[in-house]
Amino acid sequence: MRDHGDMARTRSSVTLRPEIAALPAYVPGARASRGRQMYKLSSNELPFPVLPAVGAALSDAGVELNRYPDMYATELTEALGTHLGVPAEKVIVGNGSVAVLAHILEAVCEPGDQVVMAWRSFEAYPIAVPVAGAEPVMVPVDGAGRHDLTAMAAAITDRTRVVLLCSPNNPTGPALTQSEVRQFLETVPDDVLVVLDEAYIDFVRQDDPTDGVALLDDHKHLVVLRTFSKAYGLAGLRVGYAVARRRLATGIRSASTPFGVNAMAQAGALAALASSDLVRDRVEQVVAERDRVTAALAEQGWSLPDAQGNFVWLPLGRRAAAFAEAARESGVLVRPFDGEGVRVSVGEPDGNDLFLEVATDWTTDQAPLAQA
Ligand SMILES: *Cc1c(COP(=O)(O)O)cnc(C)c1O
Repeated sequence: MRDHGDMARTRSSVTLRPEIAALPAYVPGARASRGRQMYKLSSNELPFPVLPAVGAALSDAGVELNRYPDMYATELTEALGTHLGVPAEKVIVGNGSVAVLAHILEAVCEPGDQVVMAWRSFEAYPIAVPVAGAEPVMVPVDGAGRHDLTAMAAAITDRTRVVLLCSPNNPTGPALTQSEVRQFLETVPDDVLVVLDEAYIDFVRQDDPTDGVALLDDHKHLVVLRTFSKAYGLAGLRVGYAVARRRLATGIRSASTPFGVNAMAQAGALAALASSDLVRDRVEQVVAERDRVTAALAEQGWSLPDAQGNFVWLPLGRRAAAFAEAARESGVLVRPFDGEGVRVSVGEPDGNDLFLEVATDWTTDQAPLAQA
């Protein structure tokens, strides 16, 4: 007989899929340690307390947690449809837009398929793609941190099933324009799905901003991703959504986790959606702070990519980790990407001031933005 006691102390013999075993770990933004006041500028969160209407809705929803939520989040989906001006059938909600992206990939990718993405971009992408059985194809962003759409179009092969566009791009900051996305959609073959991740859409203040939803009528191979985690300040609640043509939406919904948006999240997101004036006001404050921070950095001599999200990117190259450590010592948590740069969220004015003090002592490293 096998000695089960011994077995318990050795590794499990169950093999993981090789692509799962090889995955990089998702590195979350640093969290403050107990007992010390730190400004958390490491996860692109909104620096405001939860919206008053959301707090009230959550305490009401808490009373009925013995019940399953509405499986399809009907009320939230309909409210989103109204908010966006599309039929509710085109909206798919999920446990954060990262989960919705996973369901999109699972719905369309087969083993060996390729997914083209810009790099550096959102670090959840190169994890979600292999989990779905597909292979990431990473196309370096240009020297200004922008998607190189020409190179991305050229990277499409017979094996490409999906292209991921992130606008504004996390972590470098620049946004695509509506004309660029439209032109790109015309270049990409009809059977290749283009996912436009507009997580930071509310913070964009450039000419010709993207509006993925407005492109859906003319482009059948587009899916738009949005989230309640950023402008709505609900990162902890986990609600995101996709908007797509009906047949695709049905497929993505089929691939989704049953009851994937919990009862609190449904109630909170509905209340947030109904607080649009306050949301807009808070976003304006963040944008004003972002403009103040970028102007101060320019004054210090930094030359930075265009910041269209609620964060700035310092291309510090090899000094990224050292900068993050210096910031931590001063009481500011930032997000370093080793060898490339540091992403710093726009937070409360005092935190931003402290970050600016740290930044005074450093200057732009001319290291390339991305090594694919
Ligand atoms: C923060 C972020 C999201 C949001 O993800 P959730 O799962 O909705 O919290 C999506 N895409 C990008 C590029 C992001 O930076």
